[in-house]
Amino acid sequence: MPGGAVPAVGAAPREDEIPIRLTGSVADADPLPNFVNGRWVHPTSVGLLDVPDPSSGSVIARVPRSGGSEVDAAVAAARSAFPAWREVPVAERAHRVLALRNLLEARAEALARCVVRENGKTLDEARGSVRRGIEATEFAASAPTTMQGAFLEDVTSGVDTTLMRQPVGVVAGITPFNFPVMIPLWMAPLALVCGNTFVLKPSERVPLSATLLARWIEEAKFPAGTFNLVHGDAGAVDALLGHPGVDAVSFVGSAPTARHVYATAALHGKRVQALAGAKNHLIVLPDADLERSVPAIVSSAFGQSGERCLAGSVVVAVEPIGDRLVERLAAEVSGLITGPAADSVTEVGPVIRAEHRERVLRWIEEGKRLGARVVAEGPVPAGASGFYVPPVLFDGVTPEMAIAQEEIFGPVLSVIRVRSLAEALDVANRSRFGNAAAIFTRDGKSAREFVHRIEAGMLGVNIGVPAPAAYFPFVGWKGSFYGDLHVTGRDSIEFYTRKKVVTTRWF
Ligand code: NAD
Repeated sequence: MPGGAVPAVGAAPREDEIPIRLTGSVADADPLPNFVNGRWVHPTSVGLLDVPDPSSGSVIARVPRSGGSEVDAAVAAARSAFPAWREVPVAERAHRVLALRNLLEARAEALARCVVRENGKTLDEARGSVRRGIEATEFAASAPTTMQGAFLEDVTSGVDTTLMRQPVGVVAGITPFNFPVMIPLWMAPLALVCGNTFVLKPSERVPLSATLLARWIEEAKFPAGTFNLVHGDAGAVDALLGHPGVDAVSFVGSAPTARHVYATAALHGKRVQALAGAKNHLIVLPDADLERSVPAIVSSAFGQSGERCLAGSVVVAVEPIGDRLVERLAAEVSGLITGPAADSVTEVGPVIRAEHRERVLRWIEEGKRLGARVVAEGPVPAGASGFYVPPVLFDGVTPEMAIAQEEIFGPVLSVIRVRSLAEALDVANRSRFGNAAAIFTRDGKSAREFVHRIEAGMLGVNIGVPAPAAYFPFVGWKGSFYGDLHVTGRDSIEFYTRKKVVTTRWF
């Protein structure tokens, strides 16, 4: 067994012990390294991308645009580490995962501050997302139970059947910008504990947290080559998708990229799961408890600056609640404090990039042009250089409007008014996405009807962000997911393993 004892829970690392810096400008520092075959390597012949802090716009790191040869090296390392790693007993692999979990737990605050810096989440939001990543790591450590197979004696007289699970091989994980810690931790610990080796290609927009994770996976004594980190953008992704050494691909990102990843990986014979975009509906019935529902709706739509795949994006108000609901929502939205992610008073941080701010602002203009009414608009810091978007509440939205159909991924909430629950369900079910949906009501029968009829996978009853805990699968429907087996929960064990069924007779 490579590795040895589980490292004790220790203090957060000093800044000079980790390969990135968390404070100060690092524009003149070395670009971030890749981590391949247990070594930190600086690709020399590739271009670099700047990584700005969304709260200030100032460059905090530079990241290599790895290409085919960097991907080749990482996949080769993962392939050659696979035969020995899969022979390590699952309980010992789980031991490594627990070592990582202990390091994450001890350094959760440093990790959360890194997320604040590179992603623009507020500290509370970042802490919550790190916590969810730790939960997924803890779930992975239960593999000695979750990987168990089945045995049936006497399928016919004197013949027994055994089902067992074995690892798939080399898994590539490709992750988005909006959860820099949680989403890599949905993948790597589970893939590794099942006996696979792993290549992570994190979002080039948030490469710092992934670099810290790689550093701590190394410290948790996973053998060289079992976990590899390759920074880059679409070029690195395409090199992974077509690579004969990659057996399975876990992807999370926008809908167009998810479709591309799903089709390309499948064309190359790989197992693939691709989580995509969303447009989540929050149905509010006339009997809803507005005192408690309105804060839940506002936090769903405007928390994490709306850059969340479970964010409420459309409120479907069943009359006669519309006026009362819009009045309360408007009061909350116009009071939201937008500002730098690290400020303790900030409720809505910046969005990820200047281009994304322009895109969201274009959607707000488009809403106005289509005839929707802005009934509340929160202030943004004057003269700020960060990527701030005013929180906006639209009333008078119709289901046909593009702002009611397309993912905006910013602090914008649309209200559609309807006359009945049946009409509300019809509006929501016409969406081409089906990630999450919620209902706010005191009526059990209506809630049951919603749960039964809604065409989305993650549902909330009086819950604005119905995020499943890591021991359940993250189940997008329709255009929010491409594949068969979801991330986390028992689905992830199924995805990261393949089955053998052995039929045995002894003469
Ligand atoms: P994105 O699609 O731009 O990027 C995701 C990953 O794909 C990144 O690693 C990126 O480098 C790579 N990539 C981007 N363009 C590519 C291309 N043309 N070819 C190959 N690879 C490419 O997504 P994002 O903006 O980083 O993330 C936000 C999106 O992710 C939103 O749409 C959100 O809804 C979605 N998301 C979905 C879930 C879910 O569970 N369904 C969870 C989180 C985020």
